[in-house]
Amino acid sequence: MTTVIDNDMLASILADVRPLIGQGKVADYIPALAQVSGNKLAIAISTVDGQHFSAGDADERFSIQSISKVLSLVVAMNHYSEDEIWQRVGKDPSGQPFNSLLQLEIEQGIPRNPFINAGALVVCDMLQGRLSAPRMRMLEIVRTLCGVADITYDTVVARSEFEHSARNAAIAWLMKSFGNFHNDVATVLQNYFHYCALKMSCNELARAFLFLANQGRAPHIHHPIISPMQARQVNALMATSGMYQNAGEFAWRVGLPAKSGVGGGVVAIVPHEMAIAVWSPELDEAGNSLAGVAVLEKLTQKIGRSVY
Ligand code: GLN
Repeated sequence: MTTVIDNDMLASILADVRPLIGQGKVADYIPALAQVSGNKLAIAISTVDGQHFSAGDADERFSIQSISKVLSLVVAMNHYSEDEIWQRVGKDPSGQPFNSLLQLEIEQGIPRNPFINAGALVVCDMLQGRLSAPRMRMLEIVRTLCGVADITYDTVVARSEFEHSARNAAIAWLMKSFGNFHNDVATVLQNYFHYCALKMSCNELARAFLFLANQGRAPHIHHPIISPMQARQVNALMATSGMYQNAGEFAWRVGLPAKSGVGGGVVAIVPHEMAIAVWSPELDEAGNSLAGVAVLEKLTQKIGRSVY
């Protein structure tokens, strides 16, 4: 490490980045998300060797939104074979906004990757097909991963999204028309919106995602969450598709596998070392946290980390 991480160093990065607040826009297409104060700023880091650091509003829970797409893929990997998953969803970046329908028709209902809405909806359709209680299962996994028993869904956010679900419903129905969606659309949408409405803090997210930095193993859980190869694959997908149409720009600036959500959270992985969670609700034009990405950029420069 070029610089040693400690809480003061993280606090000084947040102070450097804070002037950016005001330049982005809190997501308002989900009305319940528009209520969140744009002023929040947080970072937390969990390391493979058992350390934990944080600064700012790192204990405050927020809607993790598309960060949940990584967790639903991981659950699908536990219940479906590699072939079963990857014949229904691709592994390539889309270069399009997360809720785009554009490529779906051209590509016969097969989404480009599991981290755009279409891909995550296919993954949720798979979970509905093999799990008796997909929403409960997700809560159990997340609670176990971060060792916190009271993590739950923000039902106000989930309901708000269901009431404004025309676009996600259109995506699901288009895939159904191509035979790539097998269960009841409304049921699967409800599961997907609940996953997006998981409420977690940066401290909890950094702990929950540590298994991706640690070859698929959470240090406090006896059995592996996924295999080392699967962890590598998930990180590769995060690196290529985790930040939507800004994946290239993000690779340039930060250089880590990462996944963002429109709640303003971003989780990034330094393989073999640490999981990092940042939060700032104002977004850039691609729907990624504007100040959150800047925090990751400053941090990776300071500690001299990149996978490239
Ligand atoms: N729930 C949001 C949606 O489906 C998730 C989008 C995101 O976080 N990028 O539109």
